[in-house]
Amino acid sequence: MADPKGFLTTKRENAKHRPVFLRLKDWREVYEESTTAEFRAEAGQKQAGRCMDCGIPFCHQGCPLGNLIPEWNTLVWREDWKRAADRLHATNNFPEFTGTLCPAPCESACVLGINDDPVSIKRVEVSIVDRAWDEGWITPQVPATRTGKRVAVVGSGPAGLAAAQQLSRAGHDVVVFERADAVGGLLRYGIPEFKMEKARLDRRLAQMRAEGTEFRTGVDVGVDVTAAQLRAEFDAVVLAGGATAWRDLPIPGRELAGVHQAMEYLPPANRVAAGTLDRSPIHAEGKHVVVIGGGDTGADCVGTAHRQGAASVTQLEIMPKPPEARADANPWPTYPLLYRVTSAHEEGGERVYSVSTTEFVGDAGGAVRALRLAEVELVDGRFTPVAGSEREIPADLVTLAMGFVGPEKGALLADLGVDLDPRGNVARGQDFQTSVDGVFTAGDMGRGQSLIVWAIAEGRSAAAGVDAYLTQRSVLPRPIEPTDRPLV
Ligand SMILES: Cc1cc2nc3c(=O)[nH]c(=O)nc-3n(C[C@H](O)[C@H](O)[C@H](O)COP(=O)(O)OP(=O)(O)OC[C@H]3O[C@@H](n4cnc5c(N)ncnc54)[C@H](O)[C@@H]3O)c2cc1C
Ligand code: SF4
Repeated sequence: MADPKGFLTTKRENAKHRPVFLRLKDWREVYEESTTAEFRAEAGQKQAGRCMDCGIPFCHQGCPLGNLIPEWNTLVWREDWKRAADRLHATNNFPEFTGTLCPAPCESACVLGINDDPVSIKRVEVSIVDRAWDEGWITPQVPATRTGKRVAVVGSGPAGLAAAQQLSRAGHDVVVFERADAVGGLLRYGIPEFKMEKARLDRRLAQMRAEGTEFRTGVDVGVDVTAAQLRAEFDAVVLAGGATAWRDLPIPGRELAGVHQAMEYLPPANRVAAGTLDRSPIHAEGKHVVVIGGGDTGADCVGTAHRQGAASVTQLEIMPKPPEARADANPWPTYPLLYRVTSAHEEGGERVYSVSTTEFVGDAGGAVRALRLAEVELVDGRFTPVAGSEREIPADLVTLAMGFVGPEKGALLADLGVDLDPRGNVARGQDFQTSVDGVFTAGDMGRGQSLIVWAIAEGRSAAAGVDAYLTQRSVLPRPIEPTDRPLV
């Protein structure tokens, strides 16, 4: 156990954010501690000491990866950071991705959270991995023997990367195909630098390359490489192409200039932050920005618009404002649906709930100038406009952040002939294998729009399935089954 009295003597401390006026001047991570590893480590140790090492650690259940949270909390408290890093990496290939980006369902399931603030698990996680990188403990794990089997991974988001790393370490020759010009999936071109600096991604990719994983970027599989070529060249295939088909809003005025999908708006902003583009072609400077959709993607648009110097930022959400405390129907240890203030929301802007957009209003030049919305209420399970509540708000730039409907149904899936499930995702059975022998799937492509922690867990489990398929035995871990769902 960590500090036996830690939960009584130490209060929870969240990671501190840099002052808003400073962080809006750059794209760097919002966290203050990222510049001072020692402070981060010290605070992390105190926070780890709050862990009660419960007989039944519900946090294990909350974390899709099954992270060994009480074990590494104890090791951190004892200042045995090296072993803590080993225990962390036993279940998670990329703790710096989850340590910065995960919504931490483990913390919602922490027993201390029943009547106090839960252990700041995510913060301890990132403290451990930061320390491990600083100390040089994270090195390539090159397999002692190679199997001679070849595996293609299509898509380089967290699911594809986790699958590729597991399979390379099992001795297979792995090639990751990515249609974008750089590796990382949504970690690279969706999630902004201020949430996770891409240097964190790049040093992992260097580790993976040194372990033998090959990356081929700018290759749209199904177009530049056919499904038949893929099957001929590789012994197994992992489809990890994500759920990139976005939901649209087909209302009057949708065709106006200045109305964009979030994933049209965010990638060029990320390129500017990376220094590969001078100025985004979709820029918020001096504009009234309206973001439609209240989730993670919407918050990323809000933070990006602030950094670009928007005149105003308004985020619209059709759902009612969530409660500040758990509702009775949403008890511990389930993931609480609460009102959350992300770092982007701390930076300003207005959040408007229970509204639906009815029309985009254009100017004489065909550009959007306003947005017409109406308040809504639930009538017979449907959101229905409230009579007389319609109003216009100024809008020179609108981003649609309304989620994703599943994987793109392009040549890749059609030519491989994989079955889809009733929700339009790639259907997978035991071991994450699709309906086609030797073709597996992991991440959002099979699960639908989800989270990084689930993508890594799926990548690890699918890798175990592929390894068993190729070698008839596998010692790789399987943190989840295809049917596992979050605790909600
Ligand atoms: C803007 C945004 C912010 C988010 N923020 C968070 C967050 O803070 N925390 C969190 O937990 N989750 C967040 N998410 C969700 C999270 O990013 C995804 O759940 C996760 O990235 C899914 O991983 P994946 O590997 O399945 O797919 P992706 O990350 O989508 O990667 C799929 C990759 O496959 C490539 N690809 C597709 N088809 C082909 C093809 N035919 N040939 C070659 N390559 C192909 C794509 O180009 C892409 O790079 C966010 C999502 C978005 C959109
Ligand atoms: S990966 Fe997410 S759920 Fe798991 S321990 Fe880390 S923050 Fe918690």
